[in-house]
Amino acid sequence: MIVAANFKTNHTRESTANYLEALNLFLDAYSTFCDVRVYPTASSFLKADLYSHIKLGAQNFYPIINGACTGEIGAQQLSEFGVKNVLIGHSERRAALKETQEFIAKKYAFAKENGWDIIYCIGEPKDVRDNGFENVMEYLWGEFDGIDINYEKLSIAYEPIWAIGTGISAEVKDIAKVLDTLKSRLNNIPLLYGGSVNIENLSSIISLKSCNGALIGNASLDVANFCKLIQIAQNVQKQ
Ligand code: PEP
Repeated sequence: MIVAANFKTNHTRESTANYLEALNLFLDAYSTFCDVRVYPTASSFLKADLYSHIKLGAQNFYPIINGACTGEIGAQQLSEFGVKNVLIGHSERRAALKETQEFIAKKYAFAKENGWDIIYCIGEPKDVRDNGFENVMEYLWGEFDGIDINYEKLSIAYEPIWAIGTGISAEVKDIAKVLDTLKSRLNNIPLLYGGSVNIENLSSIISLKSCNGALIGNASLDVANFCKLIQIAQNVQKQ
């Protein structure tokens, strides 16, 4: 079970350090089967090996080792911190940062070449959802263009765009339908759900048979809250 925190553009270097220390201490005492991942801002990276129970990840990178790419970070900068986990395809980067499927596929191939763990994000906008399930699946399969689904370090996060950061999660039965359909073609790839996950809805979502975890934004920002979410995931996993 993967429980992942996406900080987006939140937390400072200092508050990230405090958060990670508190989370690692919690995980030291509370042994869990969960694979706990945290994706801070790049300016808040700390050495990944300081936190034995947490996998530190990057929300973004540019597909180069190093070189002329103003404002971006490459593999050399990630490896300085021992970061080997990345998010790719998040809808905020697809929309606001205009990342195309072609560019996303390039990032994916680069991450694969480097042997990084990838959480690959997919999700449909509201107008596609309003046109029914078949349209949703067609849209989602389109987001696999150029993506090697046989890569063994791949997990997929299904995040309906209209549910991200809105406080309105998708309905559990709709999440189940999408995840079951993805699972039928994607076999053993771990599938996460993301989109307004919180303490109230996490248990029913990750109890779904095709759900292997959650990618959490807002509800992960407070470390005590994130610890509760891990406990909920752990309790579901034990059942
Ligand atoms: C996300 O950004 O991946 C996300 C799921 O955010 P939130 O939990 O805030 O909807």
